[in-house]
Amino acid sequence: MDMTDRKDREATILLVEDERTLLETLQYNLQRQGYKVLTASDGLQAVDLARKERPDLIVLDLMLPRLDGLEVCRLLRREMVVPILMLTARVDEVDKVVGLEIGADDYMTKPFSMRELLARIKALLRRERLIREKLAAEDDGTDEVIPTPDAPWVLGNLIIDTARREVLLEGKPLTLKPKEYELLVFLARNKGMVLSRDLILERVWGWIYSGGSRTVDTHVRWLREKIEEDASNPTRIVTVRGVGYRFEG
Ligand code: CA
Repeated sequence: MDMTDRKDREATILLVEDERTLLETLQYNLQRQGYKVLTASDGLQAVDLARKERPDLIVLDLMLPRLDGLEVCRLLRREMVVPILMLTARVDEVDKVVGLEIGADDYMTKPFSMRELLARIKALLRRERLIREKLAAEDDGTDEVIPTPDAPWVLGNLIIDTARREVLLEGKPLTLKPKEYELLVFLARNKGMVLSRDLILERVWGWIYSGGSRTVDTHVRWLREKIEEDASNPTRIVTVRGVGYRFEG
């Protein structure tokens, strides 16, 4: 087991499932892997626990008493950045679960194998950790993507000049709304990284924003209309289905 493995395995996972046997089986298996496990058997309890304990990942059943999984997801998305893996018993619910509005990070359809669930959990935790490490490096000023704040950043025919707060396309200045500009700079700084909508919301709009991921989608659409050659077939801001976006420069 290497260091990164160990870090991922010390993570706290909130398990939300109302079928007692399944809940206990999952809890047992996750604990055996070294995760700290919190459990909830209805939606309201899940929201309370998530607020109090700030888990690193949530495994969330869709059909729950008191507050269903979609509502839990919607509520928590507004308050915290946490990967959510949704469990659903119905294949026809999958679109809703991974749809833009709710934005679960991943989902599994029941019945599923424990081995696959563990693999997905591991992948989600790793992805989130890499993003956080990257952002931490950026905060320390050790990020090498933009060497100095004064140097304009040239991405083909697109130039981002953060010193002048100006963006040029084919040499002509673009008129960007403040949030469009901030979103573009954030995406560009993290070029090549998959960025979840939540992370974008947190970093560009701040914690207190309570709208939802649609705001991100709308701003991405506006940005695409301004910086893409063909906004309906984007090559710069690429959609990563069910997750968010990746800037390709
Ligand atoms: Ca259920």
